[in-house]
Amino acid sequence: MHSPRAAEQSAVLRRPLCLQPASRAPRGAAGAAALQWQMDAALPDENAMNPAEHNRFMARAIALAVENVRKGLGGPFGCVVVKDGQIVAEGANRVTSANDPTAHAEIVAIREACRVLGHFQLTGCDLYTSCEPCPMCLGAIYWARPARVFYAGTAEDAAQAGFDDVDILRELQQPPVRRRIPMQQIMREPALEAFRLWQQKPDKVAY
Ligand SMILES: [Zn+2]
Repeated sequence: MHSPRAAEQSAVLRRPLCLQPASRAPRGAAGAAALQWQMDAALPDENAMNPAEHNRFMARAIALAVENVRKGLGGPFGCVVVKDGQIVAEGANRVTSANDPTAHAEIVAIREACRVLGHFQLTGCDLYTSCEPCPMCLGAIYWARPARVFYAGTAEDAAQAGFDDVDILRELQQPPVRRRIPMQQIMREPALEAFRLWQQKPDKVAY
């Protein structure tokens, strides 16, 4: 069940985040922030942490996943966020116990890490997740901008356990109106006022 799309997703994660296409980088202050992020993302040294350290953090993410199933709190997924060799936040899947479809382990851990660090980006952090991120979490990871992502189980492993996100990847390829949940554009002009205000706002916090 390992689709080519899932393989592409894996390939994206294996790529250093500093290879963000320049065309996607915002302009102006946001562009400068993006450039800074690319520089920061390139900073972590592959040899700065020995394999045993990586394994210790991943073992914790996996333990959170196992514990989560035993406690009946949600799906079999765990995640930790590491900065400067220390775990700053942990997360486990809470979809069913919190009635929150977005409470995947990565999202829970990213939210907690940002709360602890008091920032909206995870600059210089590493994310260890017990399973390859789904499309939603992959998006959240790119917005949070950690330096690196390590994952244990693959999308194929998750699919075999009943967590198949290949369908979402397929939907992303469809034009909006042809998606299973149809998307229709309305009221574009009045919506542009928010963008006008944002672009003119001198004291905005770009991200
Ligand atoms: Zn996810």
